[in-house]
Amino acid sequence: MIIDGKQISQSLKDAMKIEVDALAEQYGRRPCLMVIIVGNNPASRSYVRGKIKATEYCGFDGHLVELPEDVSEATLLAEIDKLNNDPLVDGILVQLPLPKHISEDKVIAAISAEKDVDGFHPENVARLWLNQHCILPCTPKGIIELLDQAGVEIAGKKAVVIGRSNIVGKPVAKLLLDRNATVTIAHSRTQDLAAVCREADILVAAVGRAKMVTAEYVKPGAAVIDVGINRTEDGKLVGDVDYEAVLPVAGAITPVPGGVGPMTITMLMRNTIECFLNRMNNK
Ligand code: NAD
Repeated sequence: MIIDGKQISQSLKDAMKIEVDALAEQYGRRPCLMVIIVGNNPASRSYVRGKIKATEYCGFDGHLVELPEDVSEATLLAEIDKLNNDPLVDGILVQLPLPKHISEDKVIAAISAEKDVDGFHPENVARLWLNQHCILPCTPKGIIELLDQAGVEIAGKKAVVIGRSNIVGKPVAKLLLDRNATVTIAHSRTQDLAAVCREADILVAAVGRAKMVTAEYVKPGAAVIDVGINRTEDGKLVGDVDYEAVLPVAGAITPVPGGVGPMTITMLMRNTIECFLNRMNNK
């Protein structure tokens, strides 16, 4: 089974569009997401375009704040502060990566935790690991949603996550653990990675290396979630999984493009609605 992230994403966005109209009626305003981009990195520009398009599609308020590549850290922090203090702003996102002269850690920590739609703020990360109410990071949240929508059982299964980054590997592992999977986190120092992965009923690859996961990594019938985004020499977008080789072995698989990517943006929309509701109901 191919898990069609694009289609699942579309139906979730259609439902959110209706929900947002109802929220506007009920609360007298729409959820508002502000996206900040610094500089002209083409990949960042393309991600941000997708986010703004989804924002408009779902009927949110908000817009893009564009700052030049050489903007000072102080100016960026002042911009964030302004949005933190704006009662009509529900979500703030600063597109990463940032130019070298700006500290990403400082910027992430400067965004008010209640408006942190990316779920990267240390307070949200801590709350996730403490099982407290928090804003979940979008890609991990989207992966769980994809598994649920595809009807993949998580509880009691063995899951292997390749990659231990703070934004994908570790939080995905935590969310799978919370759903009662038995989770192994593999990484660049893991010995005999293929054998470790072959144990998995659910295999999540979040590495950033094209075609790294071959058929010999996959237990027949396993669900394979490909988070990787890589460009081939001829500019083609591919994941971490050798899709053609793994497709006949896997029980379910996400394609790249059209799998985890669209879900990440859709979960950003979901988080914006959740931030809006938290703020409106805590007033
Ligand atoms: P990262 O570079 O921070 O982490 C990569 C991880 O892979 C590291 O923990 C490292 O230990 C592990 N790794 C590296 N080489 C390995 C090897 N040979 N064997 C086993 N493990 C190895 O990357 P990230 O931010 O977690 O992103 C991972 C991939 O997911 C990238 O391709 C990124 O572009 C993509 N990504 C996609 C989305 C999406 O929405 N689809 C979102 C975030 C990241």
